[in-house]
Amino acid sequence: MPDPYDLIEQLANAAHRIAVSTDTTAVLQATFDAITNYAPQIDCIVAAGAESAKSDTTDADHVIHWTVSAVWDRQTEPALASGSAFDLLQGSLLDSLARGEPLVITALAETTNDDPKIDEDTRRRLAEKGLVSLVVVALNVHDQWLGLLLIGCRQPHSFEASEIRLYQLLADQAALGLVRHRLAQNAAAVIKAAADMFHDVGDCMITTDLNRIITSFNAAAEIRYDVTATQMIGKPISVLIPPHCRAENELWSQLAVQQNRALRGETERIDKHRQIFPVYMVVWPLHNGTGRPVGVAEFTIDNSAHLHIQTVLQDERDLYEAILESSPEAIVMFNMTQQVTAANLQFESFFQLSRYKLVQHTLDELIQQIRQREDLPADLANILLTFVGDMYQSAAGDFEMLTNVRRVLVWYSTPVYANSGVQVGRLFAFRDATQERAVDHMKTDFVSLVSHELNTPLTSIRGFTDLILDGDAGGISGTVREYLKVIKFNTDRLIALINDVLDITRIEAGRLVLHRDLYEVQSLIDKALLSVLAVTSTHQQQLQVTVAPDLPLVWVDQHRMIQVIANLLGNASKYTNSGGSITVEARMVIDSPLPETSTVLLLPAILIGIHDTGIGIAPKDLSLLFTRFYRAEQVTLQQVAGTGLGLAIVKSFVELHGGQVWVQSELGLGSSFYFTIPLVGGGHDLHSGRGG
Ligand code: ADP
Repeated sequence: MPDPYDLIEQLANAAHRIAVSTDTTAVLQATFDAITNYAPQIDCIVAAGAESAKSDTTDADHVIHWTVSAVWDRQTEPALASGSAFDLLQGSLLDSLARGEPLVITALAETTNDDPKIDEDTRRRLAEKGLVSLVVVALNVHDQWLGLLLIGCRQPHSFEASEIRLYQLLADQAALGLVRHRLAQNAAAVIKAAADMFHDVGDCMITTDLNRIITSFNAAAEIRYDVTATQMIGKPISVLIPPHCRAENELWSQLAVQQNRALRGETERIDKHRQIFPVYMVVWPLHNGTGRPVGVAEFTIDNSAHLHIQTVLQDERDLYEAILESSPEAIVMFNMTQQVTAANLQFESFFQLSRYKLVQHTLDELIQQIRQREDLPADLANILLTFVGDMYQSAAGDFEMLTNVRRVLVWYSTPVYANSGVQVGRLFAFRDATQERAVDHMKTDFVSLVSHELNTPLTSIRGFTDLILDGDAGGISGTVREYLKVIKFNTDRLIALINDVLDITRIEAGRLVLHRDLYEVQSLIDKALLSVLAVTSTHQQQLQVTVAPDLPLVWVDQHRMIQVIANLLGNASKYTNSGGSITVEARMVIDSPLPETSTVLLLPAILIGIHDTGIGIAPKDLSLLFTRFYRAEQVTLQQVAGTGLGLAIVKSFVELHGGQVWVQSELGLGSSFYFTIPLVGGGHDLHSGRGG
């Protein structure tokens, strides 16, 4: 989009040049120059005159003869000799020109011989010259029709609507220049003609004589200043200029006259209600037919909205900067050409990199600075290099940095989008998490210690309870036996809970080691089933197991894998009503994707599924089930005992084995939990071997 102010200035300059031209040839030459300057794609311009033509001319045969008065052609040969007759216009076209509407032919090839717009002769002549798109505008002043201006191109579809309006405006100005000769040296007519030209434009156009007395005042000015033209004509223009701007404005108009050129700039105006408003202004001199200056024209555009937008934008920028600076995170931002667009104070002090050597500099320059510094970790450069060019992903992680102490930095990076949805760059943020990590370790260590300390006495309580129940301490009554069974049941629950907590703390601390060996899937499932048989039979739940034949051995930590299956089976039983059924299946999967999941899997693998006909899980809970301590609302409402740790442990164990776990469920209908155990070495050579 061209700057509208540039366009106004171009137009003002062109109009000015046309206005100061002293004869017909000069007027046409200035008009041609203005058009070719503005639209470099144009190949040919023809100005033709019709001495006797009138706007209401519609001859019986609808033909008018025009005489070519000037031709410009990009290729050396003129399209038409000056003075030659020029049959162009037929009746209906004449009507449109008479109405002041330009004739536009966007592509000659798309017109036909019967096209009312253009006669055959002209089509042929244009085709010979290779002109395929054209605009014809009338040279018209009020009811006096002087001629026409034909602007042609050798490419089709060469004109935009805004250009056509501009040509019309220039043609109007040229027509004024042409009539001026007939109006002799009448200054008033020049001023009136200039004022007429701008009478209906949407912005203020005021002309003055050389004494700065207003000579014309257009409709837009009447509205903006809330006065009528009659009230203003004859008054000094200074009444519209706030006192502090008068000297400067006076100087501009003097310079415009002395240097014979248009000037532009920003100033202020004052309306009838004493309200001062900013304007953008173009001032140019007016001349009579002999080139003598007779006045000044000024064209102003109310700038309040523009200034307001600028202030709002500046305020917004200040706000964003303040937010950026007050963030405790170190932030650096890149634009789409991988240049640093912003870096906050924290970034500067975190990495001891001066912002002023960063902002507006490229990623490469930043990387160089990082690599030159021994105290900055290679991870920092690697993260930037990996993600700056990434259009889509958000990423996060942490790395260590050794300054005088070891520090842990947590980082994240995300693409940044403007409101319009267009990506504008990428942001990186860094946070010092040293303290946080230390506290986390302390917590894990504490929980681990307490759990260990609780485990020993609890194991002892259970051991002695068993001894008493077995009669090793002598005979016991039926009531005592019942009480002891309750003690044993709850001790078992406590021990299970403590073991879960211990597992979680080991996983978190990265201290869990797998002791792997090769085992048969069937044997793992059988051992896990032992842990639930008592409960399922109490609740009359049906148990069914389908293990595909000839499954390869799996390389797993037997104890942990049994724990995974037992945990899922335990849940299936716990969350299924009495009389329901539970199915375990195991099969080999070779090809992804599986219908059951969109998760990316390491294949080939053994897939184990545990299905139940239980209470099911609501969609909102599905994605959260595997997080620590999460329990679905319906189980907490029904007060089913549990901790919400089981599935978190299952997930960790499965992932430690390289597998994935997921769930499918429908509320009220039942759930299916699946997990995979990837096969090492493709799994094909593992059919025989040791079983567990
Ligand atoms: P817990 O069973 O001790 O609450 P888990 O981590 O094993 O903890 O399970 C988390 C939650 O997932 C449970 O509280 C329950 O809401 C839901 N859940 C797990 N398995 C099933 C299942 N088979 N059917 C329905 N809901 C289940």
